[in-house]
Parts: sequence; C-alpha cells; structure tokens
Amino acid sequence: MTGTAQMDKQPARPWLPRYHGLMTSGQRLRQLANLLNASTPLGLLLAVCARTTVRRGPRGLLLATGYRWRLPFAAAFTVGNVVLFRAGPAEALANPVLLGHEEGHSTQYAWCLGVPFLPLYFLAAAWSLWRTGNPGSANFFERRAGLQAGGYPPALRGNPSNDDSKNNLETPAGRVERNEA
Ligand SMILES: [Zn+2]
Repeated sequence: MTGTAQMDKQPARPWLPRYHGLMTSGQRLRQLANLLNASTPLGLLLAVCARTTVRRGPRGLLLATGYRWRLPFAAAFTVGNVVLFRAGPAEALANPVLLGHEEGHSTQYAWCLGVPFLPLYFLAAAWSLWRTGNPGSANFFERRAGLQAGGYPPALRGNPSNDDSKNNLETPAGRVERNEA
C-alpha cells in the first residue's frame, strides 16, 4: 500500500484539482470504471489479437498502434480506455486533436457502463446515416466528442467555415483508404 499512499498524497494547494500521478480524479475514475465494466480489458484483448503495439498514453489512456484489421473503417477508434490507431506511434502521438476526440469516447464508455456503449453508438450512427448520409454528423456520441476533431462533416451541409475535409482523422472508410494508398 505504500506505493499508492505515495501517489495519493494530498497536494500542497488543496484548492487546485487533485492529481493522482499525472491524472485528475475524473480521469482516474474513468480508468477505474472502464476497467471494472470490462471495456478496457476488451479493448486490450482486441489490441493483442490484432497484434498492435500497446503503450501507456496520457490521462490514463492506452495507445495501441499499428492496427491492421479491415474493420472498423476508421483511422482510429476506442474501446474503453484503449485507443487503437492504424498509424504508428509517432504519427498517433503527433495528433493530440484526434486523441482528444477518442478520449471523449473513452469517457462515453464509462457513462454507458462499458459495452452497452457499442449498441448505443451503432444506433446513433445508423440514425446519423439516415439523417445526414454519414455516420457521424448527427451521431450523439460523435457530436459530443467533437465532429471536426473526429474528421466528420458538420450536420449542416454546405457550410464552408466548418469544412474539415482536409483533416484526415477518425473519418469513414473512403478517406482512410485514400490515406493509406
Ligand atoms: Zn469519434
């Protein structure tokens, strides 16, 4: 217990957010929730089966890079606290905007008590596809995580100020395939 006692030491200035190592209390809670609700173990299992390289990321996230399986059609996706990237580690770490977006999904797993996130997400994606022609723009979860950061077009079409087509981020299949070509 001495190790954790050391880490949980009260900060000198208690009015500041309390940090546990490099994590806030909220990030620590998310990490614990996604461990207990089995979504992070599931993400790790997927990462190992897909022969990715897993390393510790910021804010309690785990970064799995070099994902090669065909599905899902995305440059990055998240299962619990595990963020899986098709890119290698250097490219993945060089994109804090996308990582921030994926972190949003990690928090959503915790709110959904883990694996129930997946069917809810697919329902939201189907709704969005029906309403806007793409799985992100009207998807509750993608909107909360940030459409632009995830590389999705805005819900209102034809608004050039929100055109993020230059950003190749989470994005649907076509763009990822082009990127890899
Ligand atoms: Zn997303």
